This record gives sequence, C-alpha cells and structure tokens, in this order.
Amino acid sequence: MNCYYHPDKPAIGLCKHCQRGLCSDCAALVDDSLACKDRHEEQVRALEEMTRQNILKSKRIRSDYLRNTIFYGTVGVLFTAFGVSQIRWLGLQAIVYAVIGLALLWAALANYLESRKYR
Ligand SMILES: [Zn+2]
Ligand SMILES: [Zn+2]
Repeated sequence: MNCYYHPDKPAIGLCKHCQRGLCSDCAALVDDSLACKDRHEEQVRALEEMTRQNILKSKRIRSDYLRNTIFYGTVGVLFTAFGVSQIRWLGLQAIVYAVIGLALLWAALANYLESRKYR
C-alpha cells in the first residue's frame, strides 16, 4: 500500500479518521494513532478523547456493579442466615426473611455477571 497523497511512496500506516495510507511525510502522531498531517489531526484527537472517556465510563459502571454485588451479597447473606436460624421460632416469618435473602443473593449474582461485561 502506498501513501494516498504521494502514490510513489510506501505508506507507514493509516489515518485513524479517513483510513487512508500515509507516508512518513504525511503522518502526524496523535497520542498513539496516526492522522493526516494538517488535515485530520483534530478529528483523530477528538476520536482518541472519546475512546478515553468510554474506557473511564465503563470502569465506573463496572465498579458500580461490583459495589451493588457486595451490598446485595452482604445483606442477602444476613437475611438468609437470620431466616434459617430463626425458622424454629418464627416459622413462616423466618421463611419470608430467608426468601428475601435468597432474592438479594440472586440480585448480587446478576450484578456480578453484569460487571463482567465491562472488562
Ligand atoms: Zn485522514
Ligand atoms: Zn505522503
């Protein structure tokens, strides 16, 4: 593949914005990506900025889900343990506690699985 602007020169890479081949004279390095010098440097910078923000955002979503996992998990274990331990004295009421606990554990599991999507 040759440079889009200089068909006689071999390309060293592609512009991230327009995907055209660029020789060493035409390529500008923006962060870790190539851009057409004086043509698409701004566009590629904007693209890079967007990618960075997406990574940040998915990290934040992931930690939200993990926080929910810990919260639901802890409360779920407490409810389940309380329900099971009180079943002899509280009967039906204890079963309700245990069921709530299991539902919370289920929510914790769902949150954990969801968090794994944002890795
Ligand atoms: Zn370009
Ligand atoms: Zn060129």
